[in-house]
Amino acid sequence: MSDLLELYQELIKDHSKKPRNFRVMADADRQLEGYNPLCGDRFTVYLKIRGDVVEDVSFQGAGCAISTSSASLMTQALKGKSRHEAEELFRAFHELVTKDARAVDEEQLGKLIVFSGVRKFPVRVKCATLAWHTLNAMLHGEAKPVSTE
Ligand code: ZN
Repeated sequence: MSDLLELYQELIKDHSKKPRNFRVMADADRQLEGYNPLCGDRFTVYLKIRGDVVEDVSFQGAGCAISTSSASLMTQALKGKSRHEAEELFRAFHELVTKDARAVDEEQLGKLIVFSGVRKFPVRVKCATLAWHTLNAMLHGEAKPVSTE
């Protein structure tokens, strides 16, 4: 198990240092700001939707290692997903970082499983879910910036 945890930490570190899809999307259909006052994480998430499919997701901003790597892995996980699949993944991810591990569908979560350790650190849950809450609010057509407080 310790090897696995090490692997998880490596992946989180890699994505926090070199976040993927970390850019302003000039032609985004939607963009929304998310803020976690508890930690100071602040991101803008950009979304391009074609029909029912998430064509592109990106983000910009500044945050801790957990929030940055979570946003980075989220953008990778959501590309090409339908709106419904994106919402399902948000729900699954939320369960992963807040609930018991046994309830988790590892196949659905893929690489996102690396955040399973977050549930032991309740303060970190808001970091890990910030970009996801922001994305989810956009999918529901909300225009007000998201705050985790
Ligand atoms: Zn944070």
